[in-house]
Amino acid sequence: AEKSLTVLGLGDMGSALIRSWLAAGYAVTVWNRSARSAPNGASVAATAAQAVAANGLVVVCLLDDASVRSTLDDLDLTGRDIVNLTTSTPAEARALSDWIAARGGRFLDGGIMAVPSMIGVAGSGAYIFYSGSAELHEIHGAALAVPAGVTYVGADAGFAALYDMALLSAMWGMFAGAAHAFALIRGEDISPVDFAPLMVGYQQAMAGYAYGTAAQLVSGDYTEGVESNLAMMVTTNGTLLRTAAEQGVSPELLTPFMRLMERRVAEGGGRESNTGVIDLLRRQPALR
Ligand code: NDP
Repeated sequence: AEKSLTVLGLGDMGSALIRSWLAAGYAVTVWNRSARSAPNGASVAATAAQAVAANGLVVVCLLDDASVRSTLDDLDLTGRDIVNLTTSTPAEARALSDWIAARGGRFLDGGIMAVPSMIGVAGSGAYIFYSGSAELHEIHGAALAVPAGVTYVGADAGFAALYDMALLSAMWGMFAGAAHAFALIRGEDISPVDFAPLMVGYQQAMAGYAYGTAAQLVSGDYTEGVESNLAMMVTTNGTLLRTAAEQGVSPELLTPFMRLMERRVAEGGGRESNTGVIDLLRRQPALR
């Protein structure tokens, strides 16, 4: 197969993607809105239209959905295979998929689970969620496997973005907890460098709790296998808050989650784990 593709976007991520394809022997045509230096060996197109015309496979890695729309607007996408690696919402990805199909193109959306330095590095753990055209995922499988691992999550063009955003959301929760923990020890005679491995180890040990949550969501029994009941955890929350006050640390990252735990206990969920919090978060009933 012909090893060539176009990449729109020479930002940090776009450039990393381009370098990985160049290193794998692909001929890469690139375009960026403003003048930026392109990785050595890439062919720079003068316009987005020329870049899109140069190859059947067009990878887009711009800032957000609005920048993708304004860049692809007015371009001839007939027969183009558009792979969008720009972070978007699920609804934005679905709408973009329809918009591109209406213009004669095929669409695959991607959510990149890596930072640029992990791209094209074997063993880095980098992977990309893909969803949308199963055909594109098959046809371009070799090219897609170059920058990172490929995890195809279905024909719904919104699913890659949904998985991506769900994992990022989980990451913010972890970062928020770590920020609060560092704030607690800051100002004491405790080295953050010595503290970090203890915190990381504990976070890793606790991360597996999500398997139990998943099992409970499927069974519907939120008391199944509970060894840390919600009523006990809510009591512990008081100790966490008094500790924050003693250390002069704002509880603002923790309190929203604690309020939800309290609400669930007030509703009678004291013998459960904290799975019921998920139901409190949903403003609409689950689709299935
Ligand atoms: P950068 O800020 O480095 O680059 C942004 C790119 O978008 C530039 O090429 C910029 O062009 C272009 N751009 C911005 N606005 C417009 C516009 N209105 N029209 C046309 N082009 C526009 O971002 P990254 O490369 O880091 O990120 C790109 C995508 O990759 C984002 O969606 C990001 O969420 C995603 N991503 C990034 C990760 C990271 O760690 N960096 C990790 C996972 C995903 P110009 O040079 O002209 O401003």
